[in-house]
Amino acid sequence: MSINIVKPELLAPAGNFEKLQAALIYGADAVYFGGKNFSLRAFGDNFTREEILKAVEFTHALGKKIYAAANIFAHNKDIAALADYLKFLDGAGVDAVLISDLGVLTLAKELTNLKIHVSTQANVTNWRAAKFFHELGAERIVLARELTRAEISEIKANCAAELEIFIHGAMCISYSGRCWLSKFLTGRDANQGACTHSCRWKYNLVEEKRAGEFFSVGEDERGSYVMNSKDLCLLPYLDKVIQSGVTSLKIEGRMKSVNYVASVVKVYRAAIDSYFDNPTDFKIRGEWLNELNKIAHRPYTTGFFIGDGEPTEIYDTSKPSRSANFLGIVRDFDLPTMTATIEQRGKFEVGERVEFFQPRGKTFSQVISAMHDADGQEILSAPHAQQIVKIPVAEPVEIWSLMRS
Ligand code: SF4
Repeated sequence: MSINIVKPELLAPAGNFEKLQAALIYGADAVYFGGKNFSLRAFGDNFTREEILKAVEFTHALGKKIYAAANIFAHNKDIAALADYLKFLDGAGVDAVLISDLGVLTLAKELTNLKIHVSTQANVTNWRAAKFFHELGAERIVLARELTRAEISEIKANCAAELEIFIHGAMCISYSGRCWLSKFLTGRDANQGACTHSCRWKYNLVEEKRAGEFFSVGEDERGSYVMNSKDLCLLPYLDKVIQSGVTSLKIEGRMKSVNYVASVVKVYRAAIDSYFDNPTDFKIRGEWLNELNKIAHRPYTTGFFIGDGEPTEIYDTSKPSRSANFLGIVRDFDLPTMTATIEQRGKFEVGERVEFFQPRGKTFSQVISAMHDADGQEILSAPHAQQIVKIPVAEPVEIWSLMRS
């Protein structure tokens, strides 16, 4: 069966309302979020019911889509509250709900008209499982991350459901996140959204009679982060990702910063558009890879997609690297005076070189020549969190641009 290639949706994480706005303004076609309960990010900011209504209104005003994650593995005690939450989501007008648990799927089917997306937590790794969920009423399947492109294409050829895959972000060393490590070590259950990321910790071997004597279990002398996964980045294979015929390309990271969301979305937006402008001459641009290297990340991997056995663990450190400091968001721009109003996010001062990363325009850099506070008083630095400052800019700058160093 041949695969019909359509332009895939670019789907971005919305950890809070500001990140949702950034994702959509920087080019995402759709966003996904978690409510205060029932999504697998219990320690994210997450959305209250009031914020969900605001988020749906904002997203739909831009003609884009918004999906709600309700992908915990529910226990009996959760059922009544889940039923109430699903009915609320239906009334709020979200475009789909992400579900892992079959019980929650039946609830959504019985009580609501919500479209159902099966979460990656359900571990769909073959076309029969995809077809089964489709027959149960799921419109879309978010495939397990442990699949090669050949397997994804085969699922596409044998199942009429929409398919979604992860293209960028942190990965679990366990099977698509179905993991008991955190629950075992800390009592906090990853399958209830409370993971402590225990796989990123540093591990040693201890002989039971020699407490306090640690023996390295690392691959070499540098360390022993034996379960620490690299971060996924499928940008180098974006043409092959698109040719696999999936409907939606998902970016991981509801816990990540506004800077992360804006940067990753802008890069993949540009790359997807570039492919569809001219598929035969499509090339990955160095500037896209440079941009992805400016955000905090662990070394990148293509995970399972190519299926060539590339190692996915990084043994020397569990800390993500970072090469750009996020300093503020442009909230306003006055053309006659060439002045930008910045909401501060990191410390900066007069004389410092900064760059402006814009939703659509080119990134430009300049030195901060002067700075005034919201009352018009001249200041030399902006030390307070979310302080409003005005600075002269060398070029017209778009609202929602990020100032970085
Ligand atoms: S401990 Fe690590 S592998 Fe397990 S669920 Fe958490 S992030 Fe994933």
